[in-house]
Amino acid sequence: MTLNPENWNQLSSEERYVIEKKGTEYPFTGFYDKFYEAGTYVCKRCESPLYTSESKFNSGCGWPAFDSNIEMNIERVLDADGRRVEIICRNCKGHLGHVFEGEGFTETNTRHCVNSISIKFIPY
Ligand SMILES: [Zn+2]
Repeated sequence: MTLNPENWNQLSSEERYVIEKKGTEYPFTGFYDKFYEAGTYVCKRCESPLYTSESKFNSGCGWPAFDSNIEMNIERVLDADGRRVEIICRNCKGHLGHVFEGEGFTETNTRHCVNSISIKFIPY
């Protein structure tokens, strides 16, 4: 269940750097980069469900990759760099990462490149 703002999870300074300041964790260091168990990934801050394990794939890029998201729970915005498309949690507006299209990794031709620190895994 998605949490209301007064119940959002407390974030560590590392989590705040990514989720609030739109930072990026170092590639190949995130907990979920090579993690393939069955379950749901929710927002670290507000627990809104964002991705399912069925959409996760190995992009080799160094961050968790998903080729689709749970409908309506992620918002796309133009990145501050004016070039990339940033993805944020629709509910709490926390930074997740970026989305790339046309790379041909999977059938959806879409790669959500997500910081491990922005999400939390919940087994089915
Ligand atoms: Zn959120």
